[in-house]
Amino acid sequence: MADTSWGEIYKELGAKPVINATGSVTMLGGSTPFPEVKEAMAQADGAYIYLLDLQEKAGDAIAKMVDVPAAYLTSGAGSALTLATAAAMAGDDDDKIQQLPNTSGMKNEILIQTRQRYWYDRCLELAGATLVDFGSEEETTAEDLEKAIGPNTAAVHYYAVEQEPDPQALSLEQTIEIAHAHGVLVTVDAAGQIYPLENFGKYVRMGADFQCVAAKYLGAPQSVGLALGSEEMIRKIGLQSFASYEGRRVRGIGRPQKVDRQEIIGAVAAVRRWMTLNHEVRLIDAEQKCRNMMAPLMGIPGVKVESIANIIGHQPYGVNIEVDPAVTGMTNQEVVDRLKAGDPPVWTRVREGEDRITLHAFGLYPGEDEVVGQRIAELFRK
Ligand SMILES: *Cc1c(COP(=O)(O)O)cnc(C)c1O
Repeated sequence: MADTSWGEIYKELGAKPVINATGSVTMLGGSTPFPEVKEAMAQADGAYIYLLDLQEKAGDAIAKMVDVPAAYLTSGAGSALTLATAAAMAGDDDDKIQQLPNTSGMKNEILIQTRQRYWYDRCLELAGATLVDFGSEEETTAEDLEKAIGPNTAAVHYYAVEQEPDPQALSLEQTIEIAHAHGVLVTVDAAGQIYPLENFGKYVRMGADFQCVAAKYLGAPQSVGLALGSEEMIRKIGLQSFASYEGRRVRGIGRPQKVDRQEIIGAVAAVRRWMTLNHEVRLIDAEQKCRNMMAPLMGIPGVKVESIANIIGHQPYGVNIEVDPAVTGMTNQEVVDRLKAGDPPVWTRVREGEDRITLHAFGLYPGEDEVVGQRIAELFRK
């Protein structure tokens, strides 16, 4: 790396900057706001603004760009999930809003397919809701959902992952049909479902009451998220928020989940950029970076290298690497550990439940793709 100032601001503190070959993950910083996002945020510094007003206008602007009825800015997609469950339980009843997370007297169960339990479902419980699984590990049927809906059901949650569709899961179409026939809300986690562009907001257009999107995937600060939904649902989500706590003097569960005015403006700029971006250029760049990571790895005995062709979602392309311990003397995890121990540390991962290393280009600055490929190749040099 020619740039000697790389990571200096972190080094001054004694913290160690890393090369991020993992992708858009919260733990490494999520995203780098784009120049037009930073410029908009800097402009937001120049004046104060009544946040209830800004939230409404920013939500309107995003809703229009994404083609959904309404939108609201939250403290990450995680907070959007929490506020959505609060809205599903307390609605617009101020007494109930102030009673959460104590849910007595409210419908408080969120149904989720056993097959769809996932890392972020904890965010659905924080406002006091209880998660109730339905279906089996093997599959989920329409009947499973019919049977699971009861007098305490506040919503059915659905986890949308279009790049890895699950044919054994109950579809979102059926989930919406059955839930709505029983007067039950449908919430969707579509945090990374932002490409192809017609997928951005699609679940709400299909009839879901709410979906979240993580702004970390859009080149906004990773501390922002989008709640998209019906006008009624988004209005109720707003009532649970920190802005409502202060502006309406109604003490909802969302108070600790603040969003800065600069972040709100930054998220609007990031959505505008995303909707008008030349995505072909974005995809070509990601593919090239992956090729550059792969190039030094070709032909190393015991190292199988495969490109990932997916372009759906937030993180196009990628590289899978499988090392044969019998030939190389290293496991996949040992490769990951050695890369992290190097200087500068290179972060990659073996994803949970998998036995291979996955690299993504999302978090790589210019030139780092080549460094990553070389650093991996060096591990195998005798
Ligand atoms: C990243 C992510 C979240 C959490 O989003 P934050 O904006 O980091 O709070 C939730 N769900 C999924 C599927 C995600 O990928």
